[in-house]
Amino acid sequence: MEQSPRPAHCLVFPYPMQGHINPMHQFSKTLVSKGIKVTLVTTKFLSKSFQQLSGSMPVETISDGFEGGYASAESLEAYFSKFKKIGSETLTKLIEKLNATGFPVDCIVYDAMMTWVLDVVKSFGLVSAIFFTQSCAVDNIYYHVKKGLINVPVENRVSLSGLSVLEPLDMPSFVHNPGLYPGLLDIMVNQFSDIDKVDWVLCNTFYKLEEEVIEWMSKQLRLRAIGPTILRKCLNNQKTREDDTDNGLQMFKPNTDAYMNWLNEQQDHSVIYVSFGSLAELNAEQMQELAYGIKQSGKHFLWVVRASEEGKLPKGFVEETSAKGIVVQWCSQMEVLAHKALGCFVTHCGWNSTLEALCLGVPMVAVPIWTDQRTNAKFVADVWRMGVRVDTDKNGVFKGEIVGHCIREVMDGEKGKEVKTTSKKWMDMAREAVKEGGSSDISINEFVASLTQHYK
Ligand code: UDP
Repeated sequence: MEQSPRPAHCLVFPYPMQGHINPMHQFSKTLVSKGIKVTLVTTKFLSKSFQQLSGSMPVETISDGFEGGYASAESLEAYFSKFKKIGSETLTKLIEKLNATGFPVDCIVYDAMMTWVLDVVKSFGLVSAIFFTQSCAVDNIYYHVKKGLINVPVENRVSLSGLSVLEPLDMPSFVHNPGLYPGLLDIMVNQFSDIDKVDWVLCNTFYKLEEEVIEWMSKQLRLRAIGPTILRKCLNNQKTREDDTDNGLQMFKPNTDAYMNWLNEQQDHSVIYVSFGSLAELNAEQMQELAYGIKQSGKHFLWVVRASEEGKLPKGFVEETSAKGIVVQWCSQMEVLAHKALGCFVTHCGWNSTLEALCLGVPMVAVPIWTDQRTNAKFVADVWRMGVRVDTDKNGVFKGEIVGHCIREVMDGEKGKEVKTTSKKWMDMAREAVKEGGSSDISINEFVASLTQHYK
């Protein structure tokens, strides 16, 4: 009797940060739905939260060399350097272990922040797939830096292949203000080291969203757009509300009842949702201005202020505004964005948050603070016209009055009508991209087919 073929086995290895784990976990689920066996790989430090939340997907751990993860390293450079050394050794051992168990590894999909994984992949002769969790436009900018086509710090407006003209402050903060973030530009630029030796270059975006820059990057690097990963379960159009709102692996635990009960009591499209993601640390002045803008908008609000940031809330703010809104430490963001009470999203424009709002057609008020958020905000406001942008200076400082004005513009003004219509248009296009036969679905199928061929 003929044996049925085993599924191809893929390790998926995100950089251990919320904004990287989410899209790569979502992509893993899509691979599983297409018959691939996926094992998630994470560091020992994060494995506890992973194991509880990854559902039926197996999780294996390697070591980054630190007991307490990144926070216990003396510097970013020290973390990356030790992670590379210890990570390579422990990943090698993991592959040897898995190869001996009857589920040999065929491929590793690894985060672009950890280019050292490629050497391990090559040493075993596996298929390599590098995964970019930021927009293709942002990747393109770092690629230009890598190739020496942009001088850093950028001081004048630039015109880059595949992109429209960008002002210095439209660029990622590491490019226009590298001195403020030592080491980070190198990490971003090093994502492109040895990229010509990688079999697959995957990016969490979709063709229609970034058509010109994807065309250009695919000519340089064979880059493939496979997103938005958050819409993975829309494949074959079998979409349910739960599919839209499943936030996946969460590093913090939301107190869902508290805010969902509150949201259920609000009128349709009346609430602003305010969140600056999993990393941004606003200083006291930024927090003060944001609080002022929220209050001044006069709208009902749900504001996520992580536990580590709560101390920076202006004194008495929660009590004074309790009739208007609530502050929570973490929420299931997709569930909130999908709620009928939502009117707009005041966001730092992290790439996941941007895509999540886009996929649910929620208009945005963009308040970029640092890293790629500036470029995302520029595109949200001026290219995709899904929202408005609050001016922030090179240090991420902004005026609360402008925040309040932008919120009212999106919620009540003429501009609001335009961004609501265009947001809906982008939502539909994102869904087209991931459904069967859509541009991202085709790219994923080609990747999956190549894995199946690899072990035959
Ligand atoms: N997020 C969430 N609950 C919150 C705040 C954020 O689930 O209360 C999720 C959000 O849905 C997104 C991720 O955290 O998937 C943040 O990623 P993003 O790229 O937007 O920003 P970063 O945290 O990397 O700055």
